[in-house]
Amino acid sequence: MLKLSGVHASYGPIKAIRGIDIEVQEGEIVCLIGSNGAGKTTTLMTISGIMQPDAGNIVFQGREINNTPPHRIVEQGICQVPEGRRIFPRLTVMENLEMGAFILRRAGRGVKKQMEKVFDLFPVLRDRGGQTGGTLSGGEQQMLAVGRALMSNPKLLLLDEPSLGLAPIMVSKIFRTIRDINSDGVTVLLVEQNARAALKLSGRGYVLEGGIVTMHGSREELLLNPDVKKAYLGE
Ligand code: ATP
Repeated sequence: MLKLSGVHASYGPIKAIRGIDIEVQEGEIVCLIGSNGAGKTTTLMTISGIMQPDAGNIVFQGREINNTPPHRIVEQGICQVPEGRRIFPRLTVMENLEMGAFILRRAGRGVKKQMEKVFDLFPVLRDRGGQTGGTLSGGEQQMLAVGRALMSNPKLLLLDEPSLGLAPIMVSKIFRTIRDINSDGVTVLLVEQNARAALKLSGRGYVLEGGIVTMHGSREELLLNPDVKKAYLGE
């Protein structure tokens, strides 16, 4: 479904990713793990078109998407939930969700139906529909950020640190919901510092260090790998 080949991206002189190869098959949950500054966020932003790659190739469903503007990438079916949620704090929950629906609205298709789907996944958002985003708890804001992305009816969801700063009970809920979203047919590429939880949820994973992929394998391979255990699982 998605293939990155030799992708490089930088911030001015800082080379954030240096020749990344990643593949995601339709229906999978794949995670990217790695420490701070490893290049995980940059990888997601390069896929979603917010950053342009300096070199390499990104193909989504057989089409090259390098240098495609972000709104066109959303139209093709990729949506990113950014780190730190980035919801609109002064808009209501409903308005935040509507902001994610520009593609469906433009196509004149099922905004209401999609919102019902989001409300079924996150019933608390239905209850809080008229409340402004900024007054929600951290966990509810994360649900809203995921819900807003789902309003574009994506085929591939890019999730950047969905568990960051959440209470453990909320982390479990968010991870369960990611599984439900995937069961509903959405492919997921997940960036997480919480490597153990991310690997348990994913079928496969990639380890990023210093802007390159240093390891990749199935959930079992990575969970049992001594280097992964030591560096990322605290064992
Ligand atoms: P984190 O979990 O801390 O976000 P990450 O693995 O997502 O880490 P990136 O945010 O992709 O890592 O950062 C990769 C490299 O690019 C780091 O060296 C970082 O300092 C640098 N970097 C990230 N954002 C910027 C920016 N806006 N300007 C300059 N350098 C940046």
